[in-house]
Amino acid sequence: MKYSIGVDLGGTDIKAGLVSAAGDISCRVVLPTDVEIGGPKVVAARIAEAVRQVLVNAGTAGIDITPKKSESTSKNPLQTDDEIHEIGVGLGAPGLIIAETGVVHFSPNFPGWSDIPLVDYVNAELAKLQPTKHAAQTDTHKKYTPILRGMDNDVNAMTLGELHHGAGVGYKSLVALTLGTGVGGGVVIDGKVYHGSRNTAGELGHTIVEPNGRVCGCGNLGCLEAYAGAKNIVERIAEKIENGRNSTLTAAMKDGTALTPRMIAEAAKAGDELAIKIFAETGQYIGIALTSIAHILNPQIAIIGGGIADAGEKLLFEPIRKELSKRAMDIPAQMKIVKAHLGNDAGIVGAAMLALERSFK
Ligand SMILES: [Zn+2]
Repeated sequence: MKYSIGVDLGGTDIKAGLVSAAGDISCRVVLPTDVEIGGPKVVAARIAEAVRQVLVNAGTAGIDITPKKSESTSKNPLQTDDEIHEIGVGLGAPGLIIAETGVVHFSPNFPGWSDIPLVDYVNAELAKLQPTKHAAQTDTHKKYTPILRGMDNDVNAMTLGELHHGAGVGYKSLVALTLGTGVGGGVVIDGKVYHGSRNTAGELGHTIVEPNGRVCGCGNLGCLEAYAGAKNIVERIAEKIENGRNSTLTAAMKDGTALTPRMIAEAAKAGDELAIKIFAETGQYIGIALTSIAHILNPQIAIIGGGIADAGEKLLFEPIRKELSKRAMDIPAQMKIVKAHLGNDAGIVGAAMLALERSFK
């Protein structure tokens, strides 16, 4: 079976795993990113270490990751099982990523990084692992050379994961929204992630939904992120409570407890009218943004993930669909709106797909 290794690089953790062609993850590893200890080369070394540990775990678990002859990328007719087999690695990283060249142009999670050739750095670190027999113990005759073959923005990677193994299976054109601290987006056209002319396509969180609205992290006014990001949902309900609106969350807020979207969702599910209204408004703003997106791109499906999406059908998805059907023209209004399937695994699965899709060599 064809395997690859997916690495999800975050500001705090590096998550990695062995991903099968069916999209199943095994041999997971989580390491601290250690960004505060050193610069990009230290982070690259941590990524390589995570990959090494995944391979060691695979050896310990007795998983045979050797590609079959027909799957081998080396196409060497003389290859025997004593030779080194390549295994593809894919990396999802936060920020503005130049996918074709493997460069991190800028990343809010890594202050000071500017046009970092991260793929080269990681491959230099991975090369140092040779000729260690990572598969060790149970499979000592086999050697694996991990090579980083693809890197993309983390949200594009998640979008790719959902396309191949999640809610997007069977579709060729889709958009994905991740509702977390910020609001990320990804666009798939004709089965491929669309990057735009200079790699900034898919910033769906910065679709304007109120011309003179709330201030967004990007500096603009009225972006979707300024309404549907976790911090902003909390701010909106806190302002209303401070202005005297009744809510079951009032006591917690007065005690100094930091509200979270989960607490607001729980209050809403227990019947708190203000909390219900906040989610209905959030859904309405997402619906407004998706109306524009549906008119521009006419995707088959919009996949919505991230922690906020856990608020669920009634609180969030119904208001989104209602807004789309109210505003969009007949055909774009038929875009399906569904919850993401892969949850936190989308990053690793999607990164592994990058290893299969692209090659820098
Ligand atoms: Zn913005």
